[in-house]
Amino acid sequence: MKNDTNAGFGTRAIHAGQEPDPTTGAIMTPVYLTSTYVQAAPNQTKGYDYSRTCNPTRTALEQNLAALEGGTWGLAFASGMAAIHCVLNLLQSGDHVIAGNDLYGGTFRILRTLYAKFGIDTTFVDLTQPKQLDAALRPQTRLVLLETPTNPLLRCCDLAAIARRCKQAGVMTLADNTFATPWLQNPLALGCDLVVHSTTKYLGGHSDVVGGVLIGSDPELRPKLAHFQNSCGGTPGPMDCFLVLRGTKTLHVRMQRHCENALAIARWLETHPKVERVHYPWLKSHPNHAIAKKQMRAGGGMVSVELKATVAQAKKVASSMHLFALAESLGGVESLVDHPTSMTHASIPAEERRRAGLQDGLIRLSVGIEDRDDLIADLEQALAKVK
Ligand SMILES: *Cc1c(COP(=O)(O)O)cnc(C)c1O
Repeated sequence: MKNDTNAGFGTRAIHAGQEPDPTTGAIMTPVYLTSTYVQAAPNQTKGYDYSRTCNPTRTALEQNLAALEGGTWGLAFASGMAAIHCVLNLLQSGDHVIAGNDLYGGTFRILRTLYAKFGIDTTFVDLTQPKQLDAALRPQTRLVLLETPTNPLLRCCDLAAIARRCKQAGVMTLADNTFATPWLQNPLALGCDLVVHSTTKYLGGHSDVVGGVLIGSDPELRPKLAHFQNSCGGTPGPMDCFLVLRGTKTLHVRMQRHCENALAIARWLETHPKVERVHYPWLKSHPNHAIAKKQMRAGGGMVSVELKATVAQAKKVASSMHLFALAESLGGVESLVDHPTSMTHASIPAEERRRAGLQDGLIRLSVGIEDRDDLIADLEQALAKVK
């Protein structure tokens, strides 16, 4: 019952992959701080031989996250980038990748600066426009890497339609579900082949750990990816796994509040005289509102805003907040503010950013779960800095 894949989201979040410790009854999964495991005879193990290959705390986390995304398996990594790197290692020289043109700066960087030199070419397109995907497909295309909502413009592409198109073309789809979390949307159920998360963000949820995970249902993909995970060794330690596992227990409750606060803030910002435009999928003014409503449960905790201000003034606003801390990253219980073009997205060349519609005056908010009125008051005093 507790590990039933049909159980509700909250039940799975708290119980999936976790049984009381058989030796003591400890209700919390122990942190197995061990590098190796004693064998009764050569190769006679209890399923564990060396902690790069497997560790019981990691196994619990992998099973828990697989259950939340509706996958049959999960593989945990030391960071979100290590997880993405693992998928890219399925490719070989001459292969072609299509990626969204508004995506995490580190993902752009690994494709452009690391994989390009191994002869793997990437075309960046606006995946909210199906015609752009069709135009970019080549016989050599092996992978479509997408984010929805995108970072930082929060555009939403149609997961089911893209998965269907890629299946026809024999192309694998990898959905970065970091911004949405499995509580808001499940790309595997909509036909995608693989899901990646930076567990650093909402899954961990407390800004105290860096991690990543891959989740899928294809039994043939798992051993290929697990082989790479073990061979290259970008695996998380047991303490990191424990922290993410502790985070996921409250994911559904945190996300509900993140979404309520973000929607209230997005609506408030939309009426503010110093605001040019608010990007939030749950606003009727959002260009992909209909598709967001179709595939998501709520609008998420991220809000991006273009101010009627110079770039210098926008930076001033970002630096003038008291509750919203000026920092990279997102998805923790505390609110953060980011100036993407000088911080999280600085690794994307200015021309490329402009083409994707990323303005220098844009500010990105990771709305936390503090009291809404305090957050709005903080935004109000910071916006008063724009004269
Ligand atoms: C943070 C992030 C990543 C990278 O994850 P790390 O844990 O920082 O390596 C990838 N994709 C998205 C959408 C992210 O926000």
